[in-house]
Amino acid sequence: MLKKTSHFMREANFIGGAWVEADSGATIEVVNPATRQTIGTVPKCGRAETRRAIEAAEEAFHSWKKTSANDRAKLLRKLHDAILDNQEALAELLVMEQGKPLAEARAEVGMSAAYVLWYAEEGRRVYGDVVPSPWADRRILVTKEPVGVIGAITPWNFPSSMLARKIGPALAAGCTAVAKPASQTPYSGLALGVLAEEAGFPAGVVNIVTGSASEIGDELTENPLVRKITFTGSTEVGKVLIQKSAGTVKKVSMELGGNAPFLVFDDAGVERAVEGAVAAKYRNSGQTCVCTNRFFVQEGIYDRFVEKLVEATNRLKVGSGLEDGTQQGPLIDEKAVEKVEELIADAAEKGGKVVAGGKRHSLGGTFFEPTVIAEASPEMRFMQEEIFGPVSPIFRFHEEEEAVKLANDTAFGLACYFYTADLGRAFRVMEGLKYGLIGVNEGIITTVEAPFGGLKESGLGKEGGHQGIEDYLDTKYVCIGGLGL
Ligand code: NAP
Repeated sequence: MLKKTSHFMREANFIGGAWVEADSGATIEVVNPATRQTIGTVPKCGRAETRRAIEAAEEAFHSWKKTSANDRAKLLRKLHDAILDNQEALAELLVMEQGKPLAEARAEVGMSAAYVLWYAEEGRRVYGDVVPSPWADRRILVTKEPVGVIGAITPWNFPSSMLARKIGPALAAGCTAVAKPASQTPYSGLALGVLAEEAGFPAGVVNIVTGSASEIGDELTENPLVRKITFTGSTEVGKVLIQKSAGTVKKVSMELGGNAPFLVFDDAGVERAVEGAVAAKYRNSGQTCVCTNRFFVQEGIYDRFVEKLVEATNRLKVGSGLEDGTQQGPLIDEKAVEKVEELIADAAEKGGKVVAGGKRHSLGGTFFEPTVIAEASPEMRFMQEEIFGPVSPIFRFHEEEEAVKLANDTAFGLACYFYTADLGRAFRVMEGLKYGLIGVNEGIITTVEAPFGGLKESGLGKEGGHQGIEDYLDTKYVCIGGLGL
């Protein structure tokens, strides 16, 4: 382990500027998915510690909201620089707790820094309006103010960047935060607390609590001091958080599950489509919300696409994320492997053909062979369920309209991709797809400059782009009368 990595592996929670244990002294073990060894523990906190974190954030909010956007931007730029200065150590920590290949972890940490910098800049451009008044002696102002304390809950698949893209806009807007990282990958979130402290953010502006998801979640959603909940994770948990937030009418933003379709039309270049397919499917071993869940390939190109995707899939190097050249790390846990096995068995029973991979990898543990299933059909469970693993089911279609219909036949609406060389078709399909993110002839499209977020049951609100700061702001209308004009 790099010396600096251990500096960031904090086995304590960050509440009101102090590093503390759980009141009960209870802890949660954190396991490296590649070795199945426990790498450390973090506090198992509950409602009481979360309440204290919220109160610390509320107290800090009174002065933090009065700082200038420029001063907040200066601190955020320091945080950005500190993330990049420690990119290697943070990436190693991420691999140890999450399993992804080091190159992907470096890229994720780079994205975290990029979100912080983007919002350092966007925070300085939170404009209000002066509206033409219908009254001669009154003037109308519209102002934007930080909402207050926000609660942020993040998943295990991107433990660094998912938190950075919440904390970045929140702090830039003048909010203070209580964050709860996923229990399987808490260290990358806690590391952001270490860096925020070292960058000089005042005590209480950033608080990080680990432990019981339901207790921390209940306090964050029920406590009236929290004015916004921002969540990235499963649709199932997102719905519970929306319901619980209703009791105190909080703002909510939800980045939830996906079921991404990837359409390949006969006129697409097969090599480019396969390159995009590998990127959109196998990143983080298929464990991203924007990973392709269903490939729909037109009949004329179907056989060539399957052949080339099988070749590319078989070339992927599976191994520990810290080994040179690894492209596929382990799955997060045994439950994830069992789900993938169940989905493959279901497909095989319904006529699917396993043409690459299909079983646990010889490395053992939670390593799984990158898999391709040809002749997928709509009655298979992949059609509606998120796989979250390295499996590519390939469906065959005949007509453009049929492909769009199949692609939209899901409760989700996060990311989708399609490949075509026909400009007219590109617009027709783009306008027909009910998705928040669309890659046309591209398999990787996330960037800090663009608004990321799903439609339908994939979520509410946007992260990234100039839109990503809006959910952390309240709009006020001020009417100034009696001006005697
Ligand atoms: P998850 O089970 O929903 O967990 C996400 C977070 O919610 C974790 O911190 C978890 O804590 C916490 N949580 C669980 N139950 C809770 C409760 N009752 N109250 C409050 N918090 C609770 O999701 P996951 O398995 O970690 O992540 C995978 C899912 O996230 C997939 O569906 C994926 O598509 C989605 N995702 C979406 C996006 C996006 O931007 N749309 C990005 C990444 C991932 P514990 O870890 O302590 O259980």
